[in-house]
Amino acid sequence: MPIKVGIIGYGTIGKRVADAVRLQKDMKLIGVTAHCYNYKIHAAHTLGIPIYEIDDGVEAENHLSKYPSESLKDNGIKPAGKFEDLLDNVDVVVDATPKNIADKYKEQFYKPKKIKAIFEGGEKHSIAECSFVAQCNYEEAVGKEFIRVVSCNTTGLCRTLHAVNQAYGIESVHATMVRRAADPWDIYHGPINAIVPVLELPSHHGPDVRTVLHGLEIFTTAMSVPTTIMHVHSIIADVKKEASVKDIVELFNDTTRIRTVKNTERVRSTAEIMEFARDIGRLRGDMPEICVWEEAIGIHKKKLFYLQAIHQESNVVPENIDAIRASMGFKDGVKSIKMTNESLGIK
Ligand code: NAD
Repeated sequence: MPIKVGIIGYGTIGKRVADAVRLQKDMKLIGVTAHCYNYKIHAAHTLGIPIYEIDDGVEAENHLSKYPSESLKDNGIKPAGKFEDLLDNVDVVVDATPKNIADKYKEQFYKPKKIKAIFEGGEKHSIAECSFVAQCNYEEAVGKEFIRVVSCNTTGLCRTLHAVNQAYGIESVHATMVRRAADPWDIYHGPINAIVPVLELPSHHGPDVRTVLHGLEIFTTAMSVPTTIMHVHSIIADVKKEASVKDIVELFNDTTRIRTVKNTERVRSTAEIMEFARDIGRLRGDMPEICVWEEAIGIHKKKLFYLQAIHQESNVVPENIDAIRASMGFKDGVKSIKMTNESLGIK
């Protein structure tokens, strides 16, 4: 019997997880929720995805009340049912609502209905029984009711640092996150002409990494810059065992969900990484792998330096799929990662 999955919140992350669920042989997408009619719901309807109406009295998106024809029915969409009907028909939900909504849904619906839930990185660690990055701590999540897939930045840090830690041991890390201002569709956020430092030390990313890589000594700083395409991390790790640049390139090339990119292949920027993703025919032009620039890997004594790029819209998508399997008791993390990767065309 396939795992029956519902998606709550069909936005940047929700719609990608829905695509990915539809590609899994062992899962079935039962439906997604909609507050109102909009282009995303129109697209879901066109794809034949059942749509369940949700009305909790909260306006889902800015200025919706300005639009007169927001009802699904008025726009030719017959809902498959209400939010509660969706919950009654699934084994697990992926709650990809904007931050701070999931906690309410957990208490009000998921717990009483005994439904497993996967939460996203906008939520606090305490919402779930564990925070999750598949290649780092899959076993910890097996059979859990509530799992939190960490944010795109934390996922990116965990993937590469876990690999380095396993192979060479890490004394301590300092990482600076250069964060995209907004997602490409987002007309509400910025900056559009400034660099905005995070005036809080450490930034929340370091403590968040430790929810997955328990005990890792890490200190992070961050800033936002005017771009919508990817975050870049500058990472300095003090390692215990000496390594060469070639060793680290090999390590990253041999580690799942990480790929090295090269200046010599004219991949000199986040823009070119995204263009490459489109050129190789990735769904939605996504790049779920963490991309490390080969020429920007450096070693000085036992200090390792590297720069990596994170496609914020897609890198957590495979993690959500593996978290679904883990929550349902599928024990073999390596196999789950392989199944997810093959279905999504990930290295
Ligand atoms: P989004 O705004 O793109 O999508 C959220 C969706 O939820 C929208 O479709 C909206 O209509 C719907 N929604 C709003 N209020 C709702 C409610 N009360 N009930 C049900 N649905 C509601 O948000 P997103 O970027 O997909 O973020 C979702 C989660 O994923 C957050 O926790 C976020 O921190 C995390 N995340 C986002 C990114 C990213 O870069 N966008 C990356 C990693 C993790």
